[in-house]
Amino acid sequence: MSFFKKLKSTATLLKELDLDAIARLSQKVDLKKMVGLVSQMKEEDLQKLMKVMSGGTREHKVPDIDGDFYDLSHLLSPEEREVQLRVREFMNTTIRPIVNEYWLRDEFPHQIVPEMAKLNVCGLTYHGYGCPGKSALLEGFLAMEMARVDASISTFFGVQSGLAMGSIYYCGSEEQKLQWLPPMQKLEVIGAFGLTEPEVGSAVAGGLTTTCKRQGDKWILNGQKKWIGNATFSDLTIIWARDVDDGNVKGFIVEKHFPGFRAEKIRGKMALRIVQNALITLTDCEVPESHRLQNANGFRDTAKVLRMTRAGVAWQAVGCARGAYESALKYTHERHQFGRPIGGFQMVQDLLVEMLSNLTAMQTMVFRLSQLQDEGKLTDEHASLAKVFCTLRTRDIVSHARELFGGNGILIEHDIARFVADAEAIYSYEGTKEINTLIVGRAITGQSAFV
Ligand SMILES: Cc1cc2nc3c(=O)[nH]c(=O)nc-3n(C[C@H](O)[C@H](O)[C@H](O)COP(=O)(O)OP(=O)(O)OC[C@H]3O[C@@H](n4cnc5c(N)ncnc54)[C@H](O)[C@@H]3O)c2cc1C
Repeated sequence: MSFFKKLKSTATLLKELDLDAIARLSQKVDLKKMVGLVSQMKEEDLQKLMKVMSGGTREHKVPDIDGDFYDLSHLLSPEEREVQLRVREFMNTTIRPIVNEYWLRDEFPHQIVPEMAKLNVCGLTYHGYGCPGKSALLEGFLAMEMARVDASISTFFGVQSGLAMGSIYYCGSEEQKLQWLPPMQKLEVIGAFGLTEPEVGSAVAGGLTTTCKRQGDKWILNGQKKWIGNATFSDLTIIWARDVDDGNVKGFIVEKHFPGFRAEKIRGKMALRIVQNALITLTDCEVPESHRLQNANGFRDTAKVLRMTRAGVAWQAVGCARGAYESALKYTHERHQFGRPIGGFQMVQDLLVEMLSNLTAMQTMVFRLSQLQDEGKLTDEHASLAKVFCTLRTRDIVSHARELFGGNGILIEHDIARFVADAEAIYSYEGTKEINTLIVGRAITGQSAFV
């Protein structure tokens, strides 16, 4: 290598150096000798030295943190996108600052309900009765946006908008819809959905033990319901019970003040702690015939509601996973070990890319699921497959996210511990992995493996 070439390389190297630092260094080392040594270095060693030095001082640009890697949000219409961003803003400004405190206290922040009502997104897909009549796709995106910040708030909303309002919308008479849906849409009347029982969870389709018996123009309900979200404070609970006379499952709008209705808070939950779940006891509870869902004539009708809400739970799982992934990615930029951001380590990137791959697969899956819903083609097995896949993958994603936080991953202040815990509840409710798997298995083989 010519002397001039070496001199040029040395000059380039020196240009990249911090002169103040060199001045300080010159007090400690003989710079003249050092430059002499550098000029004697082989070209290849000099290049390596330049790379090391520039790598150590150059600022790396931090890319935007966005778990929507395939840009699916931009397939929404501009009007839908505006609603999505409005909900995102609400979650970031109203919910995020208080969520960990309420989660730890095991309390629901009632003050947020009027603010949430202003979003005008409750009962989003229903037509008439004060409901917006928008797409299932948008509804999915909103469930995701809510769960991306907090799965409890998205569960509160899902119970109100999906399970409770959906039961009335799909199974109620015109009169019942006119009476209940408009105030529920405005969140002035809060609803709950009581299907599961202490001894009957997965087997509800054929095994409900809560009974109803007609007596003149009223019904007498007896039994217990477990896990009923919102029911400690809801104005009404949809109760599903078996008619002792014809054996069919019927649905009832049970108001909280009805004689014989009692709801006790379930304590000691390690997941979705903001959601207030109740154990409901019905002791000769009297319900007028006007409050029986007039178009609920068997479990087949209950299943219509569950099909729609199961799709929503799949989106919720996506939200929970996305929130965890994005928090973890941000942390890998901020957290330094061995003198560099942990995001620069190969094994950390491996975890991040695995999380993003699963998250992207989940998002594309639920996107198509909602399109099927909007096309009127959604089946039980479509919803079950997405529920199984998304909740399973969410468990992996939150677990990897927690891993990336090291010890901080178990501190509530970093959010991630909450995502890990909440993913467990989402995994189990609205049909466990096994039950949803059996639904898909039956559809693809033509053989029921239910016992
Ligand atoms: C936080 C939370 C909120 C909830 N909110 C509501 C609500 O608002 N309203 C409501 O009605 N319910 C609600 N639930 C109840 C929920 O839907 C049930 O927990 C769920 O359906 C499972 O029932 P289980 O807990 O009784 O479990 P079980 O049915 O006892 O199941 C226990 C295990 O056995 C497995 N299993 C059962 N049967 C089979 C089979 N045939 N083959 C293979 N495996 C099987 C299950 O998959 C599971 O792994 C909620 C639950 C939770 C945790």
